Amino acid sequence: MKLSGALVLFSGGQDSTTCLAWALDRYEHVETLGFDYGQRHRVELDCRENLRDALGRMKPEWAGRLGEDHTIEIGAIAQVSQCALTQDVAIEMADTGLPNTFVPGRNLIFLAFAAALAYRRGLKHIVGGMCETDFSGYPDCRDDAIKAMQVALNLGMDQRFVLETPLMWIDKAQTWSLAEEIGGQALVELIQRETHTCYVGERGDLHEWGHGCGVCPACQLRADGFARYKAARSV
Ligand code: ZN
Repeated sequence: MKLSGALVLFSGGQDSTTCLAWALDRYEHVETLGFDYGQRHRVELDCRENLRDALGRMKPEWAGRLGEDHTIEIGAIAQVSQCALTQDVAIEMADTGLPNTFVPGRNLIFLAFAAALAYRRGLKHIVGGMCETDFSGYPDCRDDAIKAMQVALNLGMDQRFVLETPLMWIDKAQTWSLAEEIGGQALVELIQRETHTCYVGERGDLHEWGHGCGVCPACQLRADGFARYKAARSV
């Protein structure tokens, strides 16, 4: 197992792009993993290639560290989502406080696949953009769930994986600041232009905070975080 090897869960969104840059700054060999589960919008997955290329060019040492990209198709996950069960429903908040697009335990499923791949590839660190600071309500993003998963994976695969979640305790404004710390304005601008976060899959106009519909919860969180990041910078 390569002690300085990492596998980054990389969807092409703001959070996972920041995580990929974070990993490229730390580990000698970094591979990426995207999941294709029949998303209604594939635009996020299509952003991945551009982002990987651009990150490879951003710092000379990053080019040598960036390894293979992997995609795992897990279409089965769509079969247990509310959208699949009730057909094309609008995104809304359920009584649980979670959006109805929520697939229970989705991150646990992702991490199990990631660990199986990391095992095969001999990569010790598994990096994900899970975060419990901003309210999303997803219980499988919480620190305790990730730590429990690390224990379960290490027992179940007899490994010493380390699940890294660099965004766990920071909010969206601080995620922009972290990107600036790692890659300066060039990385901030790349994330603005090329990442995709919007729930409804809209590229739309380029706003200050990036592309997206501007009204879905993901766009609102991103726009609000960017506004606070910018306000903090100008103080
Ligand atoms: Zn949106």
